[in-house]
Amino acid sequence: MQLTYWAEHAWLNAVDAADAADAADAVSAADAVVESGVAIEVSTADGRITGVRTGVEAPPPGAEILRGLTLPGLANAHSHAFHRALRSTVQVGSGTFWTWREVMYEVASRLTPDTYHALARAVYAEMALAGITGVGEFHYLHHAPGGRPYDNPNAMGEALIAAAADAGIRITLLDTAYVSSGLVDKHSGEPPNEHQLRFSDGTAEAWAERAAALKGAEHAVIGAAVHSVRAVPADQLGTVARWAADRGAPLHVHLSEQTAENDACLAAHGCTPTRLLADHGVLGARTTGVHNTHLTDADIALLGSSGTGTCMCPTTERDLADGIGPAPALQRAGSPLSLGSDSHAVIDLFEEARAMELNERLRSRTRGHWTAAALLRAATGEGHAALGWPDAGAIVVGGLADLTTVALDSVRTAGAGPGLGAETAVFAATAADVRDTVVAGRRVVRDGAHTLVPDVPSALSAAIAELRGG
Ligand SMILES: [Zn+2]
Repeated sequence: MQLTYWAEHAWLNAVDAADAADAADAVSAADAVVESGVAIEVSTADGRITGVRTGVEAPPPGAEILRGLTLPGLANAHSHAFHRALRSTVQVGSGTFWTWREVMYEVASRLTPDTYHALARAVYAEMALAGITGVGEFHYLHHAPGGRPYDNPNAMGEALIAAAADAGIRITLLDTAYVSSGLVDKHSGEPPNEHQLRFSDGTAEAWAERAAALKGAEHAVIGAAVHSVRAVPADQLGTVARWAADRGAPLHVHLSEQTAENDACLAAHGCTPTRLLADHGVLGARTTGVHNTHLTDADIALLGSSGTGTCMCPTTERDLADGIGPAPALQRAGSPLSLGSDSHAVIDLFEEARAMELNERLRSRTRGHWTAAALLRAATGEGHAALGWPDAGAIVVGGLADLTTVALDSVRTAGAGPGLGAETAVFAATAADVRDTVVAGRRVVRDGAHTLVPDVPSALSAAIAELRGG
């Protein structure tokens, strides 16, 4: 069945991409433009775009109307869904990354497959309301308390995949190897602590075996992650890298978020975390380093020359006082940039996008490191590509029919006019300005209301109350 969406305004690539495989490349190669009156034909059978017509002044009969500026669906390339339960509670007092981590472990200890499903469904619904059509879930909470596997050892991961389906968005489940608590030497790490036992499969070999049983779905891609060089001993890194290579799967890794990790890596291995990952085959075009905050020039060159991506999570990085990663240098070196809301201090990809630019302005005391279009590409096509969805993130024939429509008549966005729609979306809009979200041709958010999860705030409150014991 064919369905027509009529976008009042749409942010389009100026060049016609002939086929979906090239869609993301074509978009990044050309400057995107805002067109008014765009008919987007969608096949509901496969959820792909079958036609894009510009200059369509009025909605065709029967068309679904998207009022405002329509963008490709947003990609949230780095998420830990359960961290949403910490929102605000970790803003009391001061503390450090490491004390924050203690609070996070406390919440993790109460999650079960059922309660995690309920929480993630609500969190992913919040993401849909924020215009996010695909999430990269960096998932390491695998086992029951004490580290005992559930009867179905993938019960937690499957709960997340089901939650994304229930919330109507795509998921890349980045099943994460986490087998040690800290660096010791090449062969071993410190054993997981009481909290971390739930994260550990014991060895990367055992992780690989369990993760191999996970199954993708129409809305789900299975990928891999190395939690960090702290969590996987050096001589087991190759096992995870090979698992991902064998499957052509995305591979993500937290990288140099904290200087303490660099110091520990230097002490244990005599090199930086980036060098260690490079030496064990972890870097490459399917790999994304998350944060990439405290890097040497040599690290930047290694990441760029290997085509390893960088996922910046500016709202989390500033919340945890991590520092500002060298995103412009990484991009110049060849590292594609994506964005993630990570700890979900807020869930707002527009805020992530502008924060990347504004952080850089504060640091460099110069403006204009990225155009609004370049920031939107990080929030859309580059993000989906990092998650193994290369044909999402562009409004082109053959691309996945994932769309996000931002109001241009809200109190925040009114006035500039549609020609400045991209600038308005990035520098003025918030998640609250998202009016419609379409995933695979299906309207998941209509006029600011979720069509599958009727009361998202109540769902969040109930799920989080459950974890706090009421
Ligand atoms: Zn993270």
